[in-house]
Amino acid sequence: MTGRRGIVPPASHAVSRTYAGRPGKTKAESPVITGLMNVLASGSVSAVLPSILVANRGEIALRVFRTARRLGMRCIAVYSEADRDAPFVRFADEAHHIGPAAARESYLLGDRIIAVAKASGAACIHPGYGFLSENADFADACKAAGIVFVGPPASAIRAMGLKDAAKALAEKASVPVVPGYHGSNQDVAFLKGEADKIGYPVLIKAVAGGGGKGMKRVEGAAEFADALESAQREARNSFGDARVLVEKYVLSPRHVEIQVFGDSYGNVVHLFERDCSLQRRHQKVIEEAPAPGMTAEVRAAMGNAAVEAAKAVGYVGAGTVEFIADGRDGLRADRFYFMEMNTRLQVEHPVTETITGLDLVELQLHVAAGGKLPFTQGDLAICGHAVEARLYAEDPERGFLPSTGKLWALHLPEGEGIRVDAGVEEGGEVTPFYDPMIAKIIASGATRIEALDRLAAALGDTIVAGPKTNTRFLKKLCEAEGFRAGQFDTSFIDRHAEALGAAALPVDQAAVAAGAILLLEEQAQAAPRTGWTDDPWAMADGFALSPQPSVPTPVTADGETITLRTRWSSDGVSVDLGGEPHQEREVTLVMADEGVIVVADGRQSWVRLVDPLSVDLEGGDAAGGSSVKAPMHGKLIALFVKPGDRVEKGQRLAIVEAMKMEHVLTAPRDGVVSEAVGEPGAQVAQGARIVSIGDAG
Ligand code: ADP
Repeated sequence: MTGRRGIVPPASHAVSRTYAGRPGKTKAESPVITGLMNVLASGSVSAVLPSILVANRGEIALRVFRTARRLGMRCIAVYSEADRDAPFVRFADEAHHIGPAAARESYLLGDRIIAVAKASGAACIHPGYGFLSENADFADACKAAGIVFVGPPASAIRAMGLKDAAKALAEKASVPVVPGYHGSNQDVAFLKGEADKIGYPVLIKAVAGGGGKGMKRVEGAAEFADALESAQREARNSFGDARVLVEKYVLSPRHVEIQVFGDSYGNVVHLFERDCSLQRRHQKVIEEAPAPGMTAEVRAAMGNAAVEAAKAVGYVGAGTVEFIADGRDGLRADRFYFMEMNTRLQVEHPVTETITGLDLVELQLHVAAGGKLPFTQGDLAICGHAVEARLYAEDPERGFLPSTGKLWALHLPEGEGIRVDAGVEEGGEVTPFYDPMIAKIIASGATRIEALDRLAAALGDTIVAGPKTNTRFLKKLCEAEGFRAGQFDTSFIDRHAEALGAAALPVDQAAVAAGAILLLEEQAQAAPRTGWTDDPWAMADGFALSPQPSVPTPVTADGETITLRTRWSSDGVSVDLGGEPHQEREVTLVMADEGVIVVADGRQSWVRLVDPLSVDLEGGDAAGGSSVKAPMHGKLIALFVKPGDRVEKGQRLAIVEAMKMEHVLTAPRDGVVSEAVGEPGAQVAQGARIVSIGDAG
């Protein structure tokens, strides 16, 4: 524990190097922060809640722990098999294994998590986002077990849990909702009649929906029945509840949400808006605060509506009321509509923390410990601008397919106005079991443009080698003219997909060449001149005293074979790029399994050498047969034959990995295997005999 308590920006994060952030006012100047510091100065949170269990993983678990530890709480982690070595597990004071990788056998097992909480004496459970965070039964079960659930009362979660009931509730609280039908009649003809009345385009939404599933836009009456069927099917499969609602599709839609906060004394305030209009498949990609084009009048109207919606369900803690705004004429006080309320902390909460100077997790814990909100609406003010980008392990060039695997290199940005919330580290792994988010990068500045410029620069400094990422795509978004000018709605990404690089792109030959050069030079250095062929001129390393003519050198880049023309001289190897103008470029080369990962301009390729000599080793041995030897010192990857096997000339016998390259050893002639030595995984010395082949019979 360090000396000073109080609301400070969440200190340092997992792999974050710095948190320099808030422009404008300093902590000491803000009456809000001074007030909260006084409240918390007594150490009241940890006196009431001495320990916390986070029923979550990754960056959010770490994020919550950092604040909890600062407040003097004991941190308890639960983890699945896949997260055994994760940073949040190491960070915690104690950690408990709760099951296999699959979430439904670990992070979604409320009973098991509560049992761990009881056994470890956890005073409270923070659910993070996703998993059990909006599960009212889990909130009830915590309470029944005598553990504080860091979130709203179960009744508020239930009331806002289904989109239809939530809309009805909002309507009752005089909060504007999107015109449409959210009743119980699910008859096709009836729903179509309602859609006709609303006027196309309409949006069909699963009432139990989330994550954009079960949502279909319908352009006209003729498409309605098919779209309904497909939405219902998706809803049934995803949520076990096929019910839908139908509403007007808002044109030029902007997603603007309001962060609300309540305490258990009936006080509710809002912490301003976040604009999350940059979306892909209805999922947020970039979030910012304040919303471009927001006026004091619209902010007050939206803020009040959000506070009313929260009050209507007796809300306590952190929540978000999402609105859809018709952005055709900018943001207007009479053109925004309630969509739903998320009864938890959101992924994008850091942008609100950045512009308000508050630590929302600290506030959550304060309220959960029975504290009153230490400020009123009038105390709150916005400082500067903040933008968050979600760095994902996915491949924009291949339809944003999730990408997994080891993080061979991970360099996250740092610098003035940059905050990074991450849950992974270099050497760790992005697994297929959970959301493939690598980190959230949050940039702030005195103005929106300054924040966007910082974010673009930060993304330029980001290096991820291993899984494919959306780094380049995010950077291009920050640089996109329309977005920078504040002219965008939720279809901005779809409209500009190609310009943003979300399309198949040609191989970056120069980058691949840089990788190939490294591999060739490494190979040359490591392979002694008296190589395994005994013929220096046949060697792949190409050491020579005078410049050699260029030779075709096959390599693979992400599995695609490319033939480069390489040339050796006394200076080393160079690649002839066929007249491509030479450019100074920053390229990062990361040695990885059997190859090198080349990262250039936020794109990466995995480059491997292809053995130019088809390994066809022949050599007499004492028995008068033929022996196949390891071409270099390396590792036996596979052995395909055993003594007694009949083989044909050219047949694959074994694979040896050496010099980041797989060497396939093939049979030099027909015959019968007389000897096959070594277990896969074993080290083999250069020249070691692996397989011997004798005559049949
Ligand atoms: P989910 O809970 O599945 O994420 P939401 O109701 O939060 O679904 O909507 C997700 C996104 O879909 C919104 O951010 C917005 O971009 C779009 N959307 C939702 N309702 C409408 C509407 N009536 N008109 C236009 N777009 C909408």
